[in-house]
Amino acid sequence: MPASQLDYAVHVAEGIPTTTTDVPPDLHKRMWSPTSATLITGEQDAVLVDPLFTQSQAEALRDWVSASGKNLTVVYITHGHPDHWLGLGIILEAFPSARAFALPSVIAQMRAHATAEVLAGQWQSRFTEPLAATAATAVIANPVPSGGLRLEGDELVPVELGHTDSDDTTCLHVPSIGVVVAGDAAYNNVHLYLGDSGSEGRRSWLRALYTIEQLQPRAVVAGHKDPSASDRPEVIAETRGYIRDFEAGVAATSTTLDLYRYMKERYPQRINPGALWGSARAAKTSPSATRRPPSQTSGTPSRPSRPRC
Ligand SMILES: [Zn+2]
Repeated sequence: MPASQLDYAVHVAEGIPTTTTDVPPDLHKRMWSPTSATLITGEQDAVLVDPLFTQSQAEALRDWVSASGKNLTVVYITHGHPDHWLGLGIILEAFPSARAFALPSVIAQMRAHATAEVLAGQWQSRFTEPLAATAATAVIANPVPSGGLRLEGDELVPVELGHTDSDDTTCLHVPSIGVVVAGDAAYNNVHLYLGDSGSEGRRSWLRALYTIEQLQPRAVVAGHKDPSASDRPEVIAETRGYIRDFEAGVAATSTTLDLYRYMKERYPQRINPGALWGSARAAKTSPSATRRPPSQTSGTPSRPSRPRC
């Protein structure tokens, strides 16, 4: 069998400021974590995974995909949080022959986050810069066709992961080159968003990491990553270690600030500590974050919770 012609490249959109006023004592503002989009390339065609969030992010991504010279055939969406897919309309406008796909559970989450109430009230309201779409213009993906996804003959396999940093998440596995585009199941040198993950959610996230590990990837692209970090498979073990440390920290501390300091001491190099503040705040003050069981990977999603970044 000839070696696969596929390759991949990653574009990282820098972190952007939020309007959140709840900040830890050592920060003056909260940032949204840097977010990745991945282009899986063949000789001529390409598949884009997760088309980003704000208008300027989506436009920069569009230009980056254009510069690759590849013919974009498919856009795949890993999960329903709009920071990973709201730019879809801008991408499809530039590449009209491409089609967007996601698993049905992800499509349900996309729809739940794309209502006027949720998109304007819970997402746009957190940012000063315009998002890539409104409820009226947001483009929703189609269900992955029964024959699956392919790029120049190689299989691309969507893998259901259940709850990770949000409900009903997936990754995209490219077996021929050993790449997993992990969405938000993996974070690469960025503080994790654990605001929607109580103890049940954290257990589910650990199971998802095990599922990815079983694929024995040679590269793992994290949905939120330090732009200077490489896509090492070790990010799976590192994400697991962080979740376990957070779990221990929840038990060992009594206040938001204690938990924040507990984790910062252990992870001084991780970027975007504001995300950690959101996780610590949720773990110490929100009953829903500690008791709410995550919804499963099918059926109607529960009302989206307010993102804390
Ligand atoms: Zn995300």
